Amino acid sequence: MGKNIIADHAKWPRLEDAIFKISGECKKAIAKKGKDKIINSTLGTLIDDDGNIIAFDSVYDTLKNMDKKDIASYGAIEGDKEFLDLVIEKCFGAYKPNGFIKSVATAGGSGAVRHTIWTLSGVGDYVICPNWYWPAYATMCEEYNREFLNYEFLDENFEFNLKEFTKALDFSLEKKDRVVCVFNSPANNPTGFSIEDSMWDKILEIIKDRADDGKYIAILLDVAYIEFAGDGRQKKFFQKFGDLPENIITTVAYSMSKSYTAYGLRSGACIIVSSNEEIANQVFDSMKHSNRAIWSNITHAGMNILVDLEKDEKKKKSYEKELEFYRIMLEKRAKAFTENSKKVGLVTLPYFGGFFISIPCKNSKKIAEKLKEKDMYIVANKEGLRFAVCAVSEEKCKISPKIIKEVIDEINN
Ligand code: PLP
Repeated sequence: MGKNIIADHAKWPRLEDAIFKISGECKKAIAKKGKDKIINSTLGTLIDDDGNIIAFDSVYDTLKNMDKKDIASYGAIEGDKEFLDLVIEKCFGAYKPNGFIKSVATAGGSGAVRHTIWTLSGVGDYVICPNWYWPAYATMCEEYNREFLNYEFLDENFEFNLKEFTKALDFSLEKKDRVVCVFNSPANNPTGFSIEDSMWDKILEIIKDRADDGKYIAILLDVAYIEFAGDGRQKKFFQKFGDLPENIITTVAYSMSKSYTAYGLRSGACIIVSSNEEIANQVFDSMKHSNRAIWSNITHAGMNILVDLEKDEKKKKSYEKELEFYRIMLEKRAKAFTENSKKVGLVTLPYFGGFFISIPCKNSKKIAEKLKEKDMYIVANKEGLRFAVCAVSEEKCKISPKIIKEVIDEINN
């Protein structure tokens, strides 16, 4: 009798989170064999060489010293004013685009992705995205009844596949008047790939060319890993999103999860960039409405951390030092992995920064299964394997390519 209790639009099979599943198996293996024996490449959080989650002192000392009233109280629905101003400065660094910029506080970068899809596309519209992507995009499109359309990410020279992107854009605009173009760059999850500045010029040229009257193109820049993608110059591309035609809008999904090691504090922002003030304000109003409807307001302590760290020169310096230290740690791990991949002939996609490196291969699920027998736990997706340099020590990054290569050869040859 109660079988149909769930409304049709909300009927989904149980969400099997493949990453949490394999991570659970890995934990069991560690308990049995000891952490030194196991390579845990499952997690999407920064982990030190002893297997412990890294939580920046600068961030958590700030939290510990926060007045409890500032933690307990509600923030503003759209986010506190100081946070909203500072998050724009923090995100763009020296490369703020020209135009009208507004921000809305969101529950992590996820919230900003959600708001962009909700506000800037309608039911049945296309959300176009490369075929190496963070799976939550697909889940959100299902939830909101948008068409999630993938195109081949890289061409034969391992460059952004402009041709396939253009095809997907043209297809979407032929069918519908609105499209959301998702770009998770720099330091893409799961590949570590970053779109070069000169490629952005070409992408924007195409978008501008297709932005006819009556068509609306949203560019979503998901920059969840941006602070681990370079020393600041990786933000230069942001300037290109100023002065675009009014029917092109840019949103930036800014996450505090990785850049502040604050995954569980669920804080971030959706930053809106438009050449028209009224449009920027309307998008802001829509997203503020969404905030109220979904989570009301975000974790107050998360917003306060960003503000406290930005406003106090000493704290800011110690945060920046810590961030740099761990960015360099990631670089070293990635170098160890890519250099040894070359040595053993393991093909990896170009890595420019971030938490992951990808290995394109067929039968990825089978390979990941087999790797468990070699005490390596790694996430498989449709296109290949995702190696988590964020979670594996430099020493283990050195030995991993050989183990992976041997299993790929065994299964695929
Ligand atoms: N975008 C990408 C590509 C991610 O990998 C993640 C987290 O894993 C996010 C966005 C959002 O993270 P959060 O909602 O924790 O800020």
